[in-house]
Amino acid sequence: MSFSKLGLSSNILRALEHSGYKQPTPIQDKVIPFVLSHHDVMAQAQTGSGKSASFVLPILEIWSKNIGEGKSKIKTLVLTPTRELTLQVAQTFVSMGEFLPQKPKVVSLIGGESIGDQLFAIQKGCDIVVATSGRLIDVLNKKQMNLSHLQFFVLDEADKMLDLGFAEELELILKEIPSKRQNLLFSATYPPKMQMIASRITQNPISVTIESDEPTVQAINQRVIEVNHANRGPLLRHLLESEKWEQVLVFMANKRATDNIAAKFKKYGFLAESFHGDLVQEDRNYTLDAFKAKKIRILFATDIAARGLDIDDITCVINFDLPRSPADYIHRIGRTGRAGKSGLAVSFIDHEDQDHFALIEKRSQIKLVREQIAGYELSGNAPEKVKGPEPVKGKGKSKKDKLREQAAKGNG
Ligand code: AMP
Repeated sequence: MSFSKLGLSSNILRALEHSGYKQPTPIQDKVIPFVLSHHDVMAQAQTGSGKSASFVLPILEIWSKNIGEGKSKIKTLVLTPTRELTLQVAQTFVSMGEFLPQKPKVVSLIGGESIGDQLFAIQKGCDIVVATSGRLIDVLNKKQMNLSHLQFFVLDEADKMLDLGFAEELELILKEIPSKRQNLLFSATYPPKMQMIASRITQNPISVTIESDEPTVQAINQRVIEVNHANRGPLLRHLLESEKWEQVLVFMANKRATDNIAAKFKKYGFLAESFHGDLVQEDRNYTLDAFKAKKIRILFATDIAARGLDIDDITCVINFDLPRSPADYIHRIGRTGRAGKSGLAVSFIDHEDQDHFALIEKRSQIKLVREQIAGYELSGNAPEKVKGPEPVKGKGKSKKDKLREQAAKGNG
């Protein structure tokens, strides 16, 4: 299948060629024709599947044919869970719209940057707004944004927005936009809460799923290396030299650990930086751009900062500290092996991580061979499982006794 067969016009095909997209990914293949024929879509798609272009391309196609006269009006609103994803989606609109007779004006609304500048950009006239919901609400409260001409409402990576009071924010947003519009929903999972949101937003949506044998994580070679916690830093240095990995994303448990280890690796002469939620947006953007441009080789990051990261050339993801949940494991390793490339994910585990990693394996339906690296072998013994003291019968009151007493008091 080629992009031209999907019904996209020559100016967009030119932008695709310019970006090196040769053929549509499975999600693009399925979603683009439905959007072009004005259907609501509810797609199940992972990051790395090419889902952004699956809505960006047909929206631009339709928009460019109906621009209308006068000052630009906001026709498209995309909500995303993170600042990084917002900027990436906005960038995709810009690059795919580059050769259109009239280029779309795209504004990103994200926290951590001046709201005044964002309001100014909207006032000047824009066609497409990409936003995180929090900042969008702040902007709506200023009553300086007109969403009454909206045609497309998109939720990207919607399942990651479910917490943080999103349902309430969504209601506020729905009040501001026309009820007749085209809705496009993208989510990796559809738990009941997500389905409720889907039914609140979409009308007769077409469901699109990508067969389970196509997830991007299949392209990822996963390794697990047993090493003592204290030896993880030296092992990482050894591997960086022996395996010659180029761009490496290393996940740490918290911000402090991220800063500390980045400083250490810099001292050893590596091009390393830390990346976490406490950095101001300008620093985050700068670091990401430097990593993309390969001026940084090793990025030490927390989970929060890495959500939605879209960098094609990550050679290897390291779980220096294990993720808390199996879902985070899949999310982390999905940062490599993107856009059809192969990838590598390596997890370091010590004795006390064994049970937790076994759980991750079980939930992710994988089973990995434990490796050890010569000179960095795991030593010591697994910690004894500490059991609490056996309950002693007759000491203290049982729950039942307490309930009985309460009931007796109530009756007496
Ligand atoms: P997404 O899942 O939208 O975050 O896209 C993941 C990555 O795949 C992005 O870096 C895109 O630039 C890239 N990509 C998307 N569609 C294609 C395509 N058809 N051919 C090559 N790369 C693509």
